[in-house]
Amino acid sequence: MTIETDQVFVIRWRRPRVRARCQQCAELDKMVTARQAAALIRVDSRLIYHWVATEQLHFAETADGLLLICLNSLLDHMTKEKAKDESARGKGDYVDASG
Ligand SMILES: [Zn+2]
Repeated sequence: MTIETDQVFVIRWRRPRVRARCQQCAELDKMVTARQAAALIRVDSRLIYHWVATEQLHFAETADGLLLICLNSLLDHMTKEKAKDESARGKGDYVDASG
C-alpha cells in the first residue's frame, strides 16, 4: 500500500480588505487603496490623489470614505506616462493640485 502526500503550495494575492468593483472596467478585486497604489509604483501618494482629481485613474470610494484605485487604470496610466516621459525627458515634474 502506498500513501501519497500531495504538497500544494498556494500563493495568495494579497487582496484589499474591501471588495470593490471598478465602475469603469467592471473588474472585481482589482482595487487597491491610494497608499497601496503609491507603494506599488513607488510614487508619493499625493501624486495618486492628483491623478484621481484630474480623472486620470479609475477610482471608487467606499461607504466609509476610503479611496480605492483601479489597478487596470493605474497600469494603463503608467504606460502612458512612461511613453510621455521618453518623448519629453527632463520635463517630468508633476504639479501637486492640492497645493
Ligand atoms: Zn477600472
